[in-house]
Amino acid sequence: MAGNEAVTEKKTRVAMPEQEPDYRRRNFEEVPLGYTPEMAVKEASRCLQCKSPSCVEGCPVEIDIPAFIQLIKEEKFDEAIKKIWEKNRLPAVCGRVCPQENQCEGRCVLMKKGRPIAIGNLERFAADFAREKGIEEASPRLVPTGKKVAIVGSGPAGLTAAADLMAKGHQVTIFEALHKPGGVLVYGIPEFRLPKDIVADEVESLERQGAEIECNTVVGRTVTINELFEEGYDAVFIGVGAGLPKFMNIPGENLVGIMSANEYLTRANLMKVYLFPEYDTPIPKGKNVAVLGAGNVAMDSGRTAMRLGADTVRIVYRRSREEMPARAAEIHHAEEEGIEFLLLTNPIRFLGDDRGRVVGMECIKMELGEPDASGRRRPVAIEGSEFEISCDLVIIAVGTDANPLLTRSTEGLKLNKWGYIEADPDTGKTSIEGVWAGGDIVTGSATVIQAMGAGRRAARSIHEYLTHNS
Ligand code: FAD
Ligand code: SF4
Repeated sequence: MAGNEAVTEKKTRVAMPEQEPDYRRRNFEEVPLGYTPEMAVKEASRCLQCKSPSCVEGCPVEIDIPAFIQLIKEEKFDEAIKKIWEKNRLPAVCGRVCPQENQCEGRCVLMKKGRPIAIGNLERFAADFAREKGIEEASPRLVPTGKKVAIVGSGPAGLTAAADLMAKGHQVTIFEALHKPGGVLVYGIPEFRLPKDIVADEVESLERQGAEIECNTVVGRTVTINELFEEGYDAVFIGVGAGLPKFMNIPGENLVGIMSANEYLTRANLMKVYLFPEYDTPIPKGKNVAVLGAGNVAMDSGRTAMRLGADTVRIVYRRSREEMPARAAEIHHAEEEGIEFLLLTNPIRFLGDDRGRVVGMECIKMELGEPDASGRRRPVAIEGSEFEISCDLVIIAVGTDANPLLTRSTEGLKLNKWGYIEADPDTGKTSIEGVWAGGDIVTGSATVIQAMGAGRRAARSIHEYLTHNS
């Protein structure tokens, strides 16, 4: 290879192969197909091995990124995954869904040139390699401490807290409201972005290490936090997420064919719509679908609707493209699959037929004014710009709130004005002695890795508490 070619070769980020858009828009299989070992080594070779790597600061759980990348470069794949496991229990998940562009990759010095190292892709490669080869995280032989911890909620926050506490010898029981553990990883993020068997593997590995999981248990209703203490638990961690959907509160919202993204995606994921048409999942299959909102949840809903046979799917968003909160990769994938974006547009009324079914929406055009409290420019309606669009399914993905079921039934648990639990950011301690909280129920909707970080900090604090209260 000539000198210049070699330099260019080294500069180019190795793209991960993907299913073709025209084919994948009608199936639920994973879109990015993963690196081959050769691709992973080539991408790892681009890493500059900075002396003070800022990518590590960008990772909420501080994975030693240069070290694991160097191991991949040296083809020591089994050592690379062990290096990642030192800090992250769910690398196959994070490699796939972390917003790397705002986290580790966003801090990579090569970002300035628009070609950061594909840290997420490499993390996924190492994790998938370990799964394929049956390499497991070694669980140290521990002397049981005799302490019992109840974990409420089995999302990334709860799973991480459980794993870290078990690693210290504490006995852990996870209580989960739904019939399957995994939180949003299982019922929110679709199969084509995060295959469910990856999450199932992680949960099974926790069970093999001794975690008990009690599904179909709604803490706050089936059992209260006080009753858990009466049953002999020494500490409780609350990681119940923020799964209460928000609605538009505009006329016509009760029409048949309008539903929250939460319900839509939960039906799709937990009732195995990804095995469509073998599974006849009870889910509306619209022909002309409107999705309100522009975050990851909206992209996931729109792409699911497309896979269920929609002719048109439109993302309707009141701000402009720049403000869309979804990951850049998800927006790109959605567009490639034929999803349209109706930007600077806000629905003001849903339109129904004489049977009470939605047939369209009246919308108004928006323009951007001065920045609001969030720092984003406030969308302002343009008078007289109303217009109608037709649709037979509307999926509302404009955010979620804290579900008050557990928090209201727990006396003395301090909440902020939005109903989220007040917890110390460094330790996760709440206003009740012996009760910790972390993840979306504290921060509001955030990210998988942030929830994991909160679970880890709480586990550390719970361990200290259990050690000094024995
Ligand atoms: P959750 O994952 O919400 O888990 C909470 C669990 O607690 C649930 O299983 C719930 O059933 C259970 N529970 C609730 N109440 C009770 C109760 N009373 N008793 C017992 N159990 C209870 N983040 C990213 O980083 N990247 C992405 O690409 C991304 N995409 C997303 C797509 C969708 C559709 C959604 C909804 C979210 C997405 N997120 C993404 C956000 C991310 O998934 C969440 O921030 C993260 O899952 C929060 O973790 P958690 O453990 O706090 O809560
Ligand atoms: Fe980046 Fe997320 Fe992996 Fe950390 S866990 S290195 S932020 S992809």
